[in-house]
Amino acid sequence: MIKVCKFGGTSMADAKAMTQAKKIIESDPSRRFVVVSAPGKRFKDDIKITDMLYKCNKEVLECGSCENSFSLIRTRFIEIVKDLGIDLEIEEILKETQQAIEQKKSADFAASRGEYLSARIFAAFLGVEFVDCAEMVRFDRHGRLNDDYTDDKVASRLANVERAVIPGFYGKNFQGEIKTFSRGGSDITGSIIARGVKADLYENWTDVSGFLVCDPRIVPEAKAIKQITYKEVRELSYMGASVLHAEAITPVMKRRIPINIKNTFKPEDKGTMIVPNDQYKQEENQSVITGIAGKKNFTVLLIEKSMMNAEVGFIRKVLSVVEHYGVCVEHLPSGIDTLSVVLESEQLKNGVLTEMVNEIRENVNPDYVHVIENISLIATVGHGMAMRSGTAATLFNALAKENINIRMIDQGSSELNIIIGVSNNDYEKCIGAIYKAFI
Ligand code: ASP
Repeated sequence: MIKVCKFGGTSMADAKAMTQAKKIIESDPSRRFVVVSAPGKRFKDDIKITDMLYKCNKEVLECGSCENSFSLIRTRFIEIVKDLGIDLEIEEILKETQQAIEQKKSADFAASRGEYLSARIFAAFLGVEFVDCAEMVRFDRHGRLNDDYTDDKVASRLANVERAVIPGFYGKNFQGEIKTFSRGGSDITGSIIARGVKADLYENWTDVSGFLVCDPRIVPEAKAIKQITYKEVRELSYMGASVLHAEAITPVMKRRIPINIKNTFKPEDKGTMIVPNDQYKQEENQSVITGIAGKKNFTVLLIEKSMMNAEVGFIRKVLSVVEHYGVCVEHLPSGIDTLSVVLESEQLKNGVLTEMVNEIRENVNPDYVHVIENISLIATVGHGMAMRSGTAATLFNALAKENINIRMIDQGSSELNIIIGVSNNDYEKCIGAIYKAFI
């Protein structure tokens, strides 16, 4: 049995948290490979090491040195090493790190040092080998993970290693320079390592006891999700559930390795198990829906043209305009004579929206293009939905009862979710109403 454990920023935030993580690892000999984040927040207004490191790089670019910003990082790591009571030349390691940040002038390199330092310290604390992810994780020339290369490297590098600590979040690009994943990317590293060593389980240790059905800031009594499928997690993470990086599912999914989200500070809690579809047991969850997640600030372009359905290439022409502006399409619900293009408002700033709409008018000659702004998208996700009737009815009745006006509906083709668009002002009320109706 092999388990890969990833410990997040709060689990690495200080000596006390690291001691707790060590206890967890040592209580189970199958926990052989440990992936760590950089130290995160110790309290609400604390600053994450990664954020401090981005600041270091900015300072280097502005004035050639990062002494001001780096001094806080130095103090924090020295304190951790002192409190852990380990024998590690941390001052020397920090000096080299600062010099490298000043010399390389790369935001990715600077940011990666949080995980690097965290892993060096934690490996010394556990008394196990430190293996740098830069030796194994490789990106291609388009910045995408080079799956085959990385998988082979992880397998061969760790083949004869009994136990190791590995930093998360970064790898090398095709030119051999350090490149990071997007924020929260240590989750992806953990998944890559789990796949490479053919682990039986990927444990993701964080500061909450798994996924909750919805955001507890909106519904304080939100229940934990005991079991969920890979695909449902993809949907929820993409729509804003922040427990796990949305891209962390893909590597383990191919090898069908389950992920267990666990709480470092409440290790006795079972957490959430993320499993393939055929291992999903409906009876584990009490409801036909698994979770509700959403995001604010979308813009809908409602395009209407009579006989649109008979016009060959209509949708392609509209999408070419959107593509021309480098904007991603989030959803594309359509009717006989209407097409709604749902876009993230953030991407339409600085006049892009007006120009894009004008170009659509010129290119496809619609009857009208109506722009609806300040829309929130809310996804109600549930693997069980496809097999049951009445889910949509329950959902829409609940919203009608609360007088919430639905501006858009899109049911994913996988029948895994129903996405609705409502005004930003109705966002919280809408999530509350859905929760109440199903849970
Ligand atoms: N330290 C990085 C971040 O703050 C990556 C991670 O923690 O997963 O985004």
